[in-house]
Amino acid sequence: MLPQIPSEPVLHRAEWIVPVLSNPVQNGAVLVKEGRILAVGAFSRLKADLPAGTRIADHGRAAIMPALVNAHTHLELYAFKGAIDLPRKGFADWINEFFLLRAEIGPEAVAEAASLGRKEMHETGTALYGDITNGALACSPEPAGLPERVTFLELLGFNCGWVGAAMPAGIEVNNGGKYSTVAHSAYSVSPAVIAGAKEISRLRMLPFSIHTAEHTEEMEFLQSGTGFCRELLERLGRWEPEWKPPRTSPVRYLDSLNVLDDLTILVHAVHFDDFDRAIAARRKCTICFCPRSNRYVNVGRPDIEKALACGIPACLGTDSTASNTDLNLFAEAGFVLDQYPGIRPEAVVSMITAAPARALGRDEDFGALNAGLKSDLLVVSLDSPLKESTLSEALVRSGEKGAWKWVRAQAKS
Ligand SMILES: [Zn+2]
Repeated sequence: MLPQIPSEPVLHRAEWIVPVLSNPVQNGAVLVKEGRILAVGAFSRLKADLPAGTRIADHGRAAIMPALVNAHTHLELYAFKGAIDLPRKGFADWINEFFLLRAEIGPEAVAEAASLGRKEMHETGTALYGDITNGALACSPEPAGLPERVTFLELLGFNCGWVGAAMPAGIEVNNGGKYSTVAHSAYSVSPAVIAGAKEISRLRMLPFSIHTAEHTEEMEFLQSGTGFCRELLERLGRWEPEWKPPRTSPVRYLDSLNVLDDLTILVHAVHFDDFDRAIAARRKCTICFCPRSNRYVNVGRPDIEKALACGIPACLGTDSTASNTDLNLFAEAGFVLDQYPGIRPEAVVSMITAAPARALGRDEDFGALNAGLKSDLLVVSLDSPLKESTLSEALVRSGEKGAWKWVRAQAKS
C-alpha cells in the first residue's frame, strides 16, 4: 500500500513552526501539496494568498517540525533487540556476547526483524535512516513509504588486499550507486580496503561511513598492534602478519589513507583528542555520535561539546539494537539533553534533523522545513504556551513521551 498523499494543497497551522535551518515562527504555517512543501511562514501571510482549493488544518497548541533522520543504525541487527543484557562491562565483553548470539540468528530472521525495525523507526518519528549492512540487506528492494533508507554496504577484512576480496558473496562492487561502499573500522579492515571503499564512494559522490575511535581497545591496537583487537583478529583467522601499527590515532591514520572529506561520517568519536578534532574540522567530516550505545557498551563518553565548539557538523544515531534499547531518536536526543547540559537544545534538534540529512546526502528532501523539501512533518504537542527559548527542549521532551503525530499518515511497511 502506497502512502496517501492528498492532491489538494493543505495549509498546516500551529502555535510554532520549527524550520530548523531558520528561526522558529510563532503562529506559523506550512503550505504543502502532493508530498512537498510549497511555503513556510507566518499564518496570516500565507493565509492571505492561498492557492484555490486549499484546506486549512489547524493543529493548535503544537509545534510543526521536520521528521527525524537517524544517521547510523544497523537494521540487520534488529533481531538482537533485548537479547543482549545491557549495559556491558566494555567492548570485549559486548562483542563476545554478540558473536555468541549471532551464530544463532539465520538470514530469514534478519530480513523479518529488519522490517520490524523499520516500523519502530516510523513509530518514533524517523523519515530517513543511514543503514549499515554487511550484505544481507544490500540488495533487498526498498519498501514503499517511510522511512527511506540510505544504504551503506560495510566491508570487513583485515587480511584482504583489495576491495573485491572483502565483498560479501554474490554482491557486485559495481552497483550503479545503489549503496555506498564503506569500511567497518580501522581495526577490522585493511588499509587497502578502507582506501578503496572510500574511493568507490567518492567517485559516486556518495556518503562514506566508518566507526572511529569507539573504544580503548581500538586505540591500543593502532598504537601498538596488540591487545584485544589483535586477539580477536587472530581468533577469527583475520590477522595479517605483514601489517605494521601506524602508532597514531584512528583519525590521523584515516587521514593518512586519504579518506577524510565532507562526505565522510566518523561514527562514535569517543576517544578523540584536540588534534583529532582539528583534523576532522579541517577535512569537514561529519561526526555521528551514538551516546546511548557508548554508555551501554561502556566504552566512554564522547565529548560532543568540544566537537560542536570546533564547528564539526554533528549528528546523532541510535546505532543498532545490539547495543541500544531502541531506535527512538527522540530518546537519543533526550539522553543528550540529560547528560550534556552545556549543549543548546537547538543544536540537539539539528543533530536529529538537518545535520544528518546533509551527511546522508538527502538535504534536498529531508531535515528542514523549506520550500521544495518533502512534506513529512511531525506535529509535536506543547503542554503550555512557550517562549522561543524553551521550544527546542520542549520538542525533544514531548517527543520522548510520544506526544506527537505524523502530519501525513504513512503506510506502514
Ligand atoms: Zn555502528
